[in-house]
Amino acid sequence: MKTLAFKFPKLGRKREYKTSIEKYWKKIITEQELNERLSILQKDISNTYKSYDIDIFPFNDISKYDYLFDTAIMTGVYNPETLDNYFELCRGGSALEMKKWFNTNYHYLVPNLQNEDEFNFKFNPDIFGDFKKYNTVSVIGPFTFLKLSKNVSNFSVNLKKLVNIYSNLFDMFSTVILEEPSFVLELSTDEINLIKEVYSILGKNKGNSKLYIISYYEDIDFLTELYDLPVDGIGIDIVKGTKNLDMILKNGFPEDKELIIGCVDGTNIWRTEIDKVVEKINSIRKIKKNIIISNAGPLFHLPISVENESNIENNLINKIAFAEERLKELNLILKKVNGKEIEVWNHKSDFGIDVKVKERVSNLTEKDFNKSTNSIKRKTLQKERLNLPEYPTTTIGSFPQTSEARKIRRKFKLNKISSEDYDNFVKSKIKDLISKQEELNLDVFVHGEFERSDMVEFFAEKLNGIATTDHGWIISFGSRVYRPPIIFGDISRKGNMTLKEIKFAQTLTEKPVKGMLTGPVTIIAWSFERKDIPIKNIAYQLGLVILDEIKELENAGIKIVQIDEPAIREKAPIKKSKWSDYFSWAVNSFNLATNTKPETQIHTHMCYSKFDEIINEILKMNFDVISIEASRNSGGIVTDFPDNFKRQIGIGVWDIHSPMIPDIEQMEDTIKKVKVKIPYENIWINPDCGLKTRKWEEVIPSLKNMVSLAYKLRENK
Ligand code: GLN
Ligand code: ZN
Repeated sequence: MKTLAFKFPKLGRKREYKTSIEKYWKKIITEQELNERLSILQKDISNTYKSYDIDIFPFNDISKYDYLFDTAIMTGVYNPETLDNYFELCRGGSALEMKKWFNTNYHYLVPNLQNEDEFNFKFNPDIFGDFKKYNTVSVIGPFTFLKLSKNVSNFSVNLKKLVNIYSNLFDMFSTVILEEPSFVLELSTDEINLIKEVYSILGKNKGNSKLYIISYYEDIDFLTELYDLPVDGIGIDIVKGTKNLDMILKNGFPEDKELIIGCVDGTNIWRTEIDKVVEKINSIRKIKKNIIISNAGPLFHLPISVENESNIENNLINKIAFAEERLKELNLILKKVNGKEIEVWNHKSDFGIDVKVKERVSNLTEKDFNKSTNSIKRKTLQKERLNLPEYPTTTIGSFPQTSEARKIRRKFKLNKISSEDYDNFVKSKIKDLISKQEELNLDVFVHGEFERSDMVEFFAEKLNGIATTDHGWIISFGSRVYRPPIIFGDISRKGNMTLKEIKFAQTLTEKPVKGMLTGPVTIIAWSFERKDIPIKNIAYQLGLVILDEIKELENAGIKIVQIDEPAIREKAPIKKSKWSDYFSWAVNSFNLATNTKPETQIHTHMCYSKFDEIINEILKMNFDVISIEASRNSGGIVTDFPDNFKRQIGIGVWDIHSPMIPDIEQMEDTIKKVKVKIPYENIWINPDCGLKTRKWEEVIPSLKNMVSLAYKLRENK
């Protein structure tokens, strides 16, 4: 038995990837220096693989920005002549669209094929030094590449052309790993036939090289159909995929191919139960000899090493594994299968258990998930209470986070300033923002979220049952990193979480201040979740935490509360057959959290602008107002909503992902489109999303224009 590992996180133990790339962007270092730094990082990765005796690993774990984009370059869809041209396509004015990578929080760049019919092979190993001495390469396979690209004129014709492009890799490398996560989608018969056809060609072209296809994130529904292909190995994920192993036990596996078993989790951090995996592998070994074990899914969804953490309690630290520990686990499994003694790895101790929390969840009944007052009645109650003008204006929550705010927060965390000084700082920011909002004459205010580093980590720090890390950074896109918290136990509030700031903000103004909370699905999606209880129960525990918080806000006189759920679509399972189960708990957790007084107006915010497939689920959520992104498609999004939609919609009229200041006419066009479908009484005006990453110089004039637009619309309904 051999071991294989791939896509180790490129970030670096001290986030060297991020600092180097950003230094290059700021022209502090040259291209050559950047390449040198990245090749040092790549060497470190290769050495890490070697230190755990991994037999097969690629030499190219590092991309300068995104793996799928690099595949688009390898196939000649893009031809940036310089590194600056490359980054221009990643993040400049001509940047490609970004999308969530399967159901993870990683974003990839979407190749736009725009009738691209000719491809050219170009593999530029500039940062990898003398790559020839390595022999294994890993790239996104042709099917996944095309499946995730847009404007593909003719899928099958293009795929067949791509096969010739990919075949060049066989001249360069003795082992070619093609990652095909799209194989786990629910594919049509035509697509499956096409896959068989093109992989037969690839298999014929491979010469003396080895060709491995690796799938991950789920089961491949048509696994046995790949059995006859002339490839050397097929990889499956037995952590997230639960059926493939049984399928193989039942149907066998071809003798001429290696079976690559992804058995250590690439997307979550709980230590692998070595004994259980060994048992599974031994059962397979009875019918299949040449097995390779590997990581299940790329390792870049994990932080680099648990070794870097010094503030995680002992009970937890010896239960978790990051990327480096996954390599260690592969090594432990190998040893154990070979009959060797290994160290104790899975510590069996219960902790983080809170019987009261568990009981509260198990006592929930139907009525906890249903509002007794329907949305029409709520609308009347809220209208009277809030007395807002038509086309009310608001923002999504955050305002520019200056480096000053980040510095002070860091000092506070390191105990370098007192909590009193920190509170005073936050209060001064809130005060300043309230007067700015008064000046702008917005209708519903926010407190600005100056106390929050991140919309999930902030809540994690205030909850029992969730731990945060010091160095557990992972990349969400480009050089953007975040630290997913770890949900390890039953969740309850340490105290109130948002009351102090929101209550303070409300004392400063007559206008309603919106309470701002992150929803259960998003907290789960952007954390590592526990696996010992059903995910539904985690969501309900979080739902109750939010419910308690809203009740406190209500008691303090807060009339509007917004629950942000930007991850609700992303967290939806890859296979649609699993959607109804997922949406049932996702929707329930929202309705549980917001089952409060009918006169409290519940807003929800979702970042994206495409609801087509999920709209019926979204409509089951008991919100009163939903704010959505609408500026990029100038309001086209409302076509996803049904004709009889009676609730209110906040239309994003300002694309906050760009530094441009929208003018009134441009925003008016968006509303005009929306008005065709949505009665004007139900329209709110807001930016697409939070303003955290924007500059004040952009925010003030843009909001001015937004408020002027509302005035204009009120005159001319
Ligand atoms: N309230 C959050 C903010 O404004 C919402 C961000 C989000 O949905 N991603 O920053
Ligand atoms: Zn948003």
